[in-house]
Amino acid sequence: MTEMFCFQCEQTSQGTGCTKGGVCGKKPEVARKQDELTCALIGLSRAANGKRTDKAAGELIIQSLFATITNVNFDPDRIDDLRNRVETEKGKLGNAADFDPDKLFHGDKDIISLRSTLLFGMRGMAAYAWHAHILGKDSTEVTSWFFKGLRVIGEEHTIDEWLSLIMEFGQVNLKCLALLDEANTNTFGHPTPTKVSLKVEKGPFIVITGHDLLDLKQLLEQTKGKGINIYTHGEMLPAHGYPELHKYSHLKGNYGTAWQNQQKEFSDLPAPVLFTTNCLMLPRSSYIANIFTTAVVGYPGVIHIPEKDGKKDFSAIIKKALDLGGWKEDKQFTGINGGTELNTGFARNTVMGVAETLISAVKSGAIRHFFLVGGCDGAKPGRNYYKEFVKQTPADTVVLTLACGKYRFNDLDIGEIGGLPRILDMGQCNDAYSAIQVAAALANAFKTDLNSLPLTLVLSWYEQKAVCILLTLLSLGIRNIYLGPMLPAFLSPNVVKVLVDKFNIKPISTPEADLKAILG
Ligand code: SF4
Repeated sequence: MTEMFCFQCEQTSQGTGCTKGGVCGKKPEVARKQDELTCALIGLSRAANGKRTDKAAGELIIQSLFATITNVNFDPDRIDDLRNRVETEKGKLGNAADFDPDKLFHGDKDIISLRSTLLFGMRGMAAYAWHAHILGKDSTEVTSWFFKGLRVIGEEHTIDEWLSLIMEFGQVNLKCLALLDEANTNTFGHPTPTKVSLKVEKGPFIVITGHDLLDLKQLLEQTKGKGINIYTHGEMLPAHGYPELHKYSHLKGNYGTAWQNQQKEFSDLPAPVLFTTNCLMLPRSSYIANIFTTAVVGYPGVIHIPEKDGKKDFSAIIKKALDLGGWKEDKQFTGINGGTELNTGFARNTVMGVAETLISAVKSGAIRHFFLVGGCDGAKPGRNYYKEFVKQTPADTVVLTLACGKYRFNDLDIGEIGGLPRILDMGQCNDAYSAIQVAAALANAFKTDLNSLPLTLVLSWYEQKAVCILLTLLSLGIRNIYLGPMLPAFLSPNVVKVLVDKFNIKPISTPEADLKAILG
């Protein structure tokens, strides 16, 4: 028996599985506790079968699955706390047997592959459901599916049944994405095109990273008038496009490049950093005292800011910002390619607002093709593919992007088309919903289906939110997706064959070869 087994993310050891410790830094003890938590959730879903459950049980399932996502929670005590709460909820429902943690990732390769695909997709959906929940949006259908999904993970199914469950899940995740889109836009307004500076002004500041827009809103409120500037990092960048966040004059810009550069970029930062979700890398001793976590994020020895009655008290991080004081002079930073400014805010409302222009441009031949180059970033050099791909796209094409993979190219100036930048940042990974809506609107306008549009999806994956989005795209029948930097380790050769046969998923090759294959 190995010390642990985890193969849920793209950086998994040897491309097969982490067995002695996670490449992400997850220790065997935490991996084991996360497996046990997952198996206890299966027990909870069994205990709840056919019974009325209270709201707390659904919230606990969502929160617990979220805590098992890559780079979210490394704190064994916090995982224990979730596990204890699961046991309490299970007890209220009359108890049921948990799944055996030793069997979670062991057994028939194809069954493990299919079961893991569903489980990892559900972990990703849990993050989106949680963000919608804290903004007051819940869906009975989505929450019920968490119970159903966990229950079926603990059952035996044929390969066809698993595939059908995975496609059903993809459709439920689409509803969850729609719910979060509604929660975000109702609360913060529809994103509008916004330029984001990479300059950090002198004086005290706080960096906020992750996906939680409500945390940012509360932080902006609590720092108002205190002489502290706020900078986004990583997946928080698209927050600048939301009117109800953009209106704060001390939300100044974005600090840092891709998440995997944080250990270097935070090491001598004279400011605290608040992690609201993934991706948290092991904090180095040079800056661990300046790191704060909140929500489901956790790391032993790092100050955690809890929520009470929907409110968080950020006074400790505000004090830290004032103590550290920031830089003495303004500092101009650049993106990976030397750019000093980023664009964001091209979500569905904005893009559909210029739909007529885009449709006319396609009809006249001014726009030949759309690419959606989106997904997660990661440390592997093979991810330079995405930058080179974007750089080589012809001038009569548009690049839609979302999630953090865009840090490879979002500071590039590749020109404009019809008065719009050729790179249109649609937002965070969950804004895949925006991309799906835009694609559906274009298909409608051209009286065709999604697969007949002049649109190609070139996706990069790293963690489980990318898995749930991919499953949604497949459940919509979208074919010919290019996926990289490598195929997930949890897909067995037989499952890959099914995906290739049914959806023609293609591993990325080289930008030159792939562009030639797409554009001819
Ligand atoms: Fe390994 Fe990824 Fe699992 Fe971390 S999350 S232990 S890197 S597979």
